[in-house]
Parts: sequence; C-alpha cells; structure tokens
Amino acid sequence: MTDDNSMRWRQGGCHCGAVRFEVALPERIEIEDCNCSICAMVRNTHVIVPASRFRWLQGADRLTTYTFNTHKAQHTFCSVCGVKSFYTPRSNPDGFAVTWACLDDPQDFEEVIVNHFDGVNWEKNAAALAHKSAD
Ligand SMILES: [Zn+2]
Repeated sequence: MTDDNSMRWRQGGCHCGAVRFEVALPERIEIEDCNCSICAMVRNTHVIVPASRFRWLQGADRLTTYTFNTHKAQHTFCSVCGVKSFYTPRSNPDGFAVTWACLDDPQDFEEVIVNHFDGVNWEKNAAALAHKSAD
C-alpha cells in the first residue's frame, strides 16, 4: 500500500495541448463536483491545490480569463480550444482548482472521493472549501 501522504507530479492540460501544467497530488484525492452556475454548465469537477503544487509546462500566454458575479474567481481557459483545464477559485484565491478530467490520467489514483459542493449557495458553504490550498 502506498503512503497516503506521498505526492506525485501528474501532468494535464487543455484539449488542443496549448496549455500544459503539472500538479502534485496524493494517491487519495477529493474532487469538488460543484453545482454553481458555471460549473453546472460545463460539468466542471476539480481538485483544489496550493500554488506550490502547480507548475507551468507551457501555454500561460494562451489563456483567456472570464469573471462574473464578485469577479474573484478567475475562470481561465485556453483561447484556442476553450477548455478550462484549471482556474483560480474564489474559495482559495492563493491556489488553483485543477479540472479532474483534464489530468492526463484522471483514474490513476488509489481513490477519488467526490464531494458534492453546493455552489448555488456559495456563501453558506464556502467554509467547507476554505484552506484547501494551504500547504
Ligand atoms: Zn487548448
């Protein structure tokens, strides 16, 4: 059995390959299946990590950013293919929310725990997500 705390760098990116990154994740991850207006529309399910566990490989200059409502979350997506492979969440503005399906091998974990996050009522529930980007 693998040590639950051991991190492994895994690669991911957008559909066309312009945006590429790597992210350090443990063998057991929690992903947020959020029902807010934008996550529901694109069926975004993501894992939140601190910035120290995210490294650019290429494509930072290819990103376009969309914001709405409080304009705190930075919804970054590839300007070529439109895929949002990660974004900066309102709950953890010092970290990143990496789209689980945009990892090269999203099933390559011992366990993937799906949290159903009620983003429709974000203000009431944000505490549950706070500090997920802490080192
Ligand atoms: Zn792309």
